Amino acid sequence: MLSRSSLHRSRTATLLALLVLVAGPAAAQAPKSPIYTPGKLTPIQQQAREVYKELVEINTSVTTGNITNGAVAMAKRFKAAGIPDSDIFIGGPRPDKHNVVARFRGKNPAGRKPVLLLAHIDVVEALKADWSPEFDPFVFTEKDGYYYARGISDDKAMASIFVANLLRMKADGYVPDRDIIIALTADEESGAFNGAGWLVENHRELVDAGIVINEGGGGMLRDGKPLINTIQLSQKITTNFTLHVTNRGGHSSVPRDDNAITSLADALSKVGRYQFPVKLSEVTTSFFTQTAPLETPKMGAAMKALVANPADKAAARIVAADEKYSSMLRTTCVATMLSGGHASNALPQLAEANVNCRIYPTETADEVRAALEKVVNDTTVKVLVKSQRPASPPAKLSAEIMEPVAKVTKDLFGNIPVIPTMSTGANDSRFFLTIGIPSYGVSGLFMDPTTDARAHGRDERMRIQSYFEGQEFLYRLTKLLASNPPTVP
Ligand SMILES: [Zn+2]
Repeated sequence: MLSRSSLHRSRTATLLALLVLVAGPAAAQAPKSPIYTPGKLTPIQQQAREVYKELVEINTSVTTGNITNGAVAMAKRFKAAGIPDSDIFIGGPRPDKHNVVARFRGKNPAGRKPVLLLAHIDVVEALKADWSPEFDPFVFTEKDGYYYARGISDDKAMASIFVANLLRMKADGYVPDRDIIIALTADEESGAFNGAGWLVENHRELVDAGIVINEGGGGMLRDGKPLINTIQLSQKITTNFTLHVTNRGGHSSVPRDDNAITSLADALSKVGRYQFPVKLSEVTTSFFTQTAPLETPKMGAAMKALVANPADKAAARIVAADEKYSSMLRTTCVATMLSGGHASNALPQLAEANVNCRIYPTETADEVRAALEKVVNDTTVKVLVKSQRPASPPAKLSAEIMEPVAKVTKDLFGNIPVIPTMSTGANDSRFFLTIGIPSYGVSGLFMDPTTDARAHGRDERMRIQSYFEGQEFLYRLTKLLASNPPTVP
């Protein structure tokens, strides 16, 4: 743990480094980490880096990659670590989209259900041409304190850490009290039913657990220093709507007032300007209440005002001005795809748009559809539910998760709060929450949301120091969760 004086020293060091940066070409130094020294990896860190590199250099993107190759490579690692074949499962409904599940058997004296470490190993497509010239999305590249590649943060950091930590535990001769299961899964990004959902439905016995640790949480850095750690408890629900307009069409030399493309364009601009009312759940109320004191006075006051009165429009405007908070406030809907017309010289007979909504967990798709219909206010534009996912209940913030997370956070990052949060994206925790298994987004991977939030985008990256601190965080957390009694010493 960092002492107060070492924290003070590191702050002074950062300040000095910044002054040097202003004065000359020397690079700014990050605050010293007790876990990671640049250029000097420990053998344990070197091993994690090898697994990480191997995994990101296997193209597992949803359409052009092969996820099975990633699963097979990790299965080899499990085997080499001494996990017997009978405790390694590779499979899935499609030959190119296999999952791998490994079971590390514990002493199991109290018969507690296993700890499941869950990470998806598929990634979003990435074209080299879309990235900066110095990076190839499928080549593990190190530059100025960061690792770059597709999947480097989402979600191969956690996947490789889980594998490397298992290797470390086996090498140490450690035996957990209860079983530890690692499930590395397919198709989280595409939403197709080949991954965690498929395992839950078809091989429940492989992934049945007492607790799940998944992506979705993580820490926030401000000026290179840990500010908060988060536990993701709930998530918004993804629903796609189609705005659909048909028209009798005709020759484009004789246009009329009624036109499918014009009607659709009008409807989309209304949807684009519309804001759903502010909603707060138990989880987001707790998030804003605990984040307020760490924010600027203006933002902090607005968060408090909003918690007191969600209808406070002025407060909502201030909070929503920050991208990372705005989508936590309400259901959002945004046009993502567009098609229409069949010839350049014909009046369009069909125009269609996809509107992707991220629905607040307390709202339903039907309510959102009705709201969109009202906003569009045009009977020629049909608003249809295209694809809909079931809502999942939030995970309960129990002592079983909170105590170990708070302890390891304090030991590694000092006195910073651990704050429950709602993810605005969706992840595979929903499959477990739906069947009553608590699934938490916790990683101990810290990032600066203003510069490092690049998942699904170009030049995706992971701060190297954060990766190795996250490795240590998850190692200690897994051991605490897997030991009896489940209390923190
Ligand atoms: Zn992910």
